[in-house]
Amino acid sequence: MIVILHPNTDEKSVEYLETMSFLEHLPNISLQRHVVQGADQKLTEIYLLGDTQKLEQGDIESLDCVDRVIRISQEYRILGRHKDQNRSSGFTYNGVQFSQENCHILAGLCAVDTPEHVEMMMKALQEHGQDCTRMGAFKPRTNPYSFQGHGKQCLPYVFELAGKYGIKVIAMEVTHESQIEEISTALRVTGSPTGVMLQIGTRNTQNFELLKVVGRQKEYPVLFKRGYGVSLNESLNAAEYLASEGNSNVIFCLRGMKSEGGAPHRNMVDFAHVPVIKRLTRMPVCVDPSHSVGTRDKSPDGILDVVHAAAQGLIAGANMVLVDFHPEPTTALVDGPQALLMDELPRFLDDMAKCHEFYNERKKLWDHV
Ligand code: PEP
Ligand code: MN
Repeated sequence: MIVILHPNTDEKSVEYLETMSFLEHLPNISLQRHVVQGADQKLTEIYLLGDTQKLEQGDIESLDCVDRVIRISQEYRILGRHKDQNRSSGFTYNGVQFSQENCHILAGLCAVDTPEHVEMMMKALQEHGQDCTRMGAFKPRTNPYSFQGHGKQCLPYVFELAGKYGIKVIAMEVTHESQIEEISTALRVTGSPTGVMLQIGTRNTQNFELLKVVGRQKEYPVLFKRGYGVSLNESLNAAEYLASEGNSNVIFCLRGMKSEGGAPHRNMVDFAHVPVIKRLTRMPVCVDPSHSVGTRDKSPDGILDVVHAAAQGLIAGANMVLVDFHPEPTTALVDGPQALLMDELPRFLDDMAKCHEFYNERKKLWDHV
């Protein structure tokens, strides 16, 4: 059961203390308090865990500070929507707001290779009004002899260049808990010129021990990728591991499913699940057309399949696009064949902005039905 208090409830007020005292004395119930600080208001939610079946919802609703009470199912307790369409979604990190309403493009290098390419990427993003990117330093590779990413040694120049070009958030995959400390150290020594969103890759979706550690830290938000070979339900339960450990600043990313059915694409594009995730959970939803489609093939209309897939995600209401670009894809150390080119960036951004607008138009069309 979740007890949602009125926005901006003062924790020193008599009403709050009385409400808490009532809840604390409920038999066989333990409390967990979650505070979400939004741009305009602070929202406090109290999770009642344990023997909640016998509780009278009305008794709790009548307490002074209580706005409403939601009975929740066993699944995705914290991240779930539990049929309450008014539950808040999203968070603000390093001045950038992420929610189920807005939209960000995280264009960037699949993997950091040279400082020159990092700088070209960051500069182009700033020129086109972007403040987020993607950059991999720790790469999970199928083949142990493939390039594994430059690791911690590239972090200082990546962060400095991000700061130089006004990039506020970098999505960066972590494959091991020790890398979180390496990121923190590099941010510290460079004076925190940017922020990092920790990415959990599809190969680690059910690496529960990694998820617990990433969930225990609250400094960085998390971009959590759907597992490419497990059900949506299993992936959503895995995301809940992050929240159950304390970090509910999570964005859920669709990136295609491993299946022969997807050929000639690298994976079966699964962006029809965007609205499903928004219905079941409060997480903002990201789509990754690069790792879904995996090629630069284009149709006779002149539009690349990667761009079509991204558009499909946004028209269905996605809140973020994670997409590979590269200044010189033939020299890229990872995933060159699926990268978009720098001169495609302005058209891509324009197309995506139009798709998001079009989604809002679609929403209005169906609003009154
Ligand atoms: C990536 O985004 O660089 C990546 C490795 O993606 P995924 O985990 O979806 O394969
Ligand atoms: Mn990649």
